Amino acid sequence: MQAPAQLEDLRRMSARVGNNILLVQGAGGNSSIKHDDVLWVKASGTWLADAERKEIFVPVSLSAARAALAQGHERVPLSPHAIATLRASIETSLHALMPHPVVLHVHSVNTIAWAVRTDARNELANRLDGLAWHRLDYFHPGLPLAHAVNAVIAQNAIDVLILGNHGLVVGAADCEAAEALVHEVEKRLAMPPRRAAPVDEQALRKICTGTDYRMPADLLCHNIATDSFSRAIATGGSLYPDHVVFLGPGLPILGEGKDLAAVAAPAGANGLCPPVAALIAGLGAVIRKDASSGAEAMLTCLALVTCRLPLNAEIAYLSIENEQALLNWDAEHYRRQLTAHR
Ligand SMILES: [Zn+2]
Repeated sequence: MQAPAQLEDLRRMSARVGNNILLVQGAGGNSSIKHDDVLWVKASGTWLADAERKEIFVPVSLSAARAALAQGHERVPLSPHAIATLRASIETSLHALMPHPVVLHVHSVNTIAWAVRTDARNELANRLDGLAWHRLDYFHPGLPLAHAVNAVIAQNAIDVLILGNHGLVVGAADCEAAEALVHEVEKRLAMPPRRAAPVDEQALRKICTGTDYRMPADLLCHNIATDSFSRAIATGGSLYPDHVVFLGPGLPILGEGKDLAAVAAPAGANGLCPPVAALIAGLGAVIRKDASSGAEAMLTCLALVTCRLPLNAEIAYLSIENEQALLNWDAEHYRRQLTAHR
């Protein structure tokens, strides 16, 4: 299938966005362009950061994608001429229904810091004043989210969608404008990060000795455990879908006098899988030795989001039903697997 010239723009823009940890972490986020009746959209489980090195975009028939949404079908088949073994993104329907030539969805940390709050609607409105924006509540990714967005854009011309407990979607005429709009929203929503106490790496390493855990690659992750407010937020529940998918629900915390081996009983001992990551109060975060780079990125994301939330913020967490729906979803098993093999 002949790729349109704009696909090169999309590759360059997606790689830039995907390499910015403040915008995208791991396999999160996705982008697309529309050309005639073809939607070129990121394949599920691929990383935007790889957009210039690998073939991460797949062609989908735009009319078929819109028809699938109308009929309530979750998966959108690839274009008949596509030479690809990948699946189109979970969010393909969302990209197809937006009228803009370019759609960009990111998990930008400043937007998420606002999108998990229940007490900030007025300030959010002030900061985004003048943009064609709308804030949605949380919807399960894929079809439920696409239907909710469909209902909103049927009423108004919207370029900026703040997805509750999830992230940001922008639509624009071209790649440059889409990228600029993401940066504009992030600038308006910018929150200063709190600095955390220094980390006692030696003490953490000692705790990890003889266990399946190690230090995370990014030192910033320790802030979740050393900043008492970040720690309270992180252990209160799950804030957004990719956290649940890659780290599991919430984040366990190691209490005083408990050792790591007890928190991380091997799979089967209690019928549960050992947690991917855990916090050690006041000391830092640890992550399983076999954790994927996607899980590492998600721990960094949590650090970046929690340290931006003000101390008095009222937080809305995902419900247990929301978490279960994400964990039992075949589309997410597939995405996790691909990310582990990146
Ligand atoms: Zn997303």
